[in-house]
Amino acid sequence: MIGNAVPVRDHDGAILEYHWTGGLATRILDIERELTAVITGDLDAQEFTCATLLHDEPLRRSGYLDSLPCVPFYAVPHGTPARAGNEQSHWMLSTAACFHVLAAVSGAASVTPGMTTYTCGAVCHRSEAGTDDAVLRLSSFRMRELVLVGREAEVLEHAESAFMRLYRHLGTVLTRLRLDDATDVFYGARAEALRRIQSVKQVKKEIVTSWSDTDDYAVASWNKHGNRLTAAFAGEDATPDTPHSACVAFGVERLAVAVLAAEAGLLPQKFLAGARAS
Ligand SMILES: [Zn+2]
Repeated sequence: MIGNAVPVRDHDGAILEYHWTGGLATRILDIERELTAVITGDLDAQEFTCATLLHDEPLRRSGYLDSLPCVPFYAVPHGTPARAGNEQSHWMLSTAACFHVLAAVSGAASVTPGMTTYTCGAVCHRSEAGTDDAVLRLSSFRMRELVLVGREAEVLEHAESAFMRLYRHLGTVLTRLRLDDATDVFYGARAEALRRIQSVKQVKKEIVTSWSDTDDYAVASWNKHGNRLTAAFAGEDATPDTPHSACVAFGVERLAVAVLAAEAGLLPQKFLAGARAS
């Protein structure tokens, strides 16, 4: 496999994101496809493309922005004075792929009492530049999700099945794999309070793998939204009739590097260091 991981650094040297090149890029795309098929299983999931910008109002309404342990990036037009732009913009770069699906389908006639499933991939952005030691905790990364919308019981049953299919599949590839309650798949150490809340409510499960001799990273998660997000994106208060939603998500580059490292007989951190162009 000939190819590189080319880091994009900010002016302080922190790694914001990577360009993946050549055979390495091809393998990452293949792995995304393979694992998308695993989480989708027999579900008739509709492919859904995501946009770059997301209006922040539904996320504010759902309480997501208040509990978020990292700061999303806001988009402001060129030439807007920085201070005015930050205060006036309601457009943020997406922090998760499923929000785009929920924004499009919540409150629409297409939300039926049964269950509808979608699969979507998006480049997501969070204010978490990584250092060379904290590899792949990035400001910009690709996320792939299965999103389920509909009756609570069906949504939960199928989301858990999809998550466990992924866990079992990864168990055939990765060693030192475990399930965890609610640390957070992409956020850093500042998320401790949120993790405890999530743990008590059991709204999130993760697949965690060894990244180095000393570090573990979450590579995938199962998130129960209840009907909080569907109500917020519909611009309504939740009622017993509001559909529920859940998602099964994985960080594409992070999980692909873990898989490729395992194939090479290396820990992911070592594999990535070897693939890095500079
Ligand atoms: Zn999601």
